[in-house]
Amino acid sequence: RYNTIGFIGLGAMGNHMVNNLISKAGQSGGIPKNFVVCDVNPDTVSRIIARHAAANPDIKVESAKTPEEIANKAATIISMVPTANNVREVYLGKSGVIRALEKLSKDDVRRTICIDESTIQQEESRSIANQVKQTGAEMIDAPVSGGTVGARDGTLTIMVGGKKDAFERARPILQSMGQRVLSCGDLGAGLAAKLANNLLLGISMMGVAEAMLLGKKLGLESQQLAEIINTSTGRCWSSEVNNPVPEVRTSSSSPPSHREYEGGFVTKLAHKDLALAVAAAKIVNSPVPLGSLTEEVYRPLAQPGSSFDNLDFSSIYKYFDEGRMP
Ligand code: NAD
Repeated sequence: RYNTIGFIGLGAMGNHMVNNLISKAGQSGGIPKNFVVCDVNPDTVSRIIARHAAANPDIKVESAKTPEEIANKAATIISMVPTANNVREVYLGKSGVIRALEKLSKDDVRRTICIDESTIQQEESRSIANQVKQTGAEMIDAPVSGGTVGARDGTLTIMVGGKKDAFERARPILQSMGQRVLSCGDLGAGLAAKLANNLLLGISMMGVAEAMLLGKKLGLESQQLAEIINTSTGRCWSSEVNNPVPEVRTSSSSPPSHREYEGGFVTKLAHKDLALAVAAAKIVNSPVPLGSLTEEVYRPLAQPGSSFDNLDFSSIYKYFDEGRMP
């Protein structure tokens, strides 16, 4: 168990993150050579196993049917699932991690660390972590920023909440998936940083879409306007790297706007994070007028069945351009 890492949730982000982790196994940094992976979708599990089976016979990648089985086989458990309900199911559900922890020896439990990398409500995360910690295991929140490209290239920023010694234990593992691994404070602090960042990200993307469309309608050429913005005070990640206008060349070689908004950070997840940030702001009575408006504008795009819900969140430009804004 101590030489095994378990990974739960092999979706758009998780599959790249576990690939990076496995590719660094056995190298400096102390990443062990044994892995056990789990997802409710068996296809994603088979893909990971098949990819690594032939690559290096020294490295063992097994599948597990449930998070409980993962916790029986691995003392380091990483989860990357969409929502708080999924995280609750993974840790506290009837085949959850906690079921195994309740039956393991005290020493086995004490040496177990759970790292949740999902973006969920701070309060939910703290509540789940406290229930896991009652067994004697350690838990931290470690949400990530950088999108699927950052996950693929191992360049994520990882924001960690939890005790300092737990952070130090997790650091080498997180460093194999990200470029910057930052301790932000106690439990929930990683999520606070992530939600504040994504609140600003949503606002800035909507702002860039508005400004770019206004410029076009006022007669400007989009490429020229982007170049002006990107050397002026309006410059930001949404204008420079992930510019939402298909005709604009960006510093990224293939932004979602060049691929009909396929891939990237999908609108339904961007909206989920805006809603989480606005709800968190309410709890602590912090004003978020732009955040609330952005959440409201993105809401219809993120509805299940909308033609935008699975497109990159920069597709808000297309939504405005097609005159769909009510
Ligand atoms: P995803 O839907 O692509 O993948 C999630 C995976 O978790 C799926 O394969 C699903 O089958 C699996 N899963 C769900 N419940 C499970 C359970 N109980 N047991 C086992 N597996 C389960 O989502 P994603 O894009 O990888 O995002 C994951 C998290 O990362 C979200 O909280 C998201 O907000 C956050 N995030 C996403 C991005 C991005 O660009 N996609 C960027 C930063 C952070």
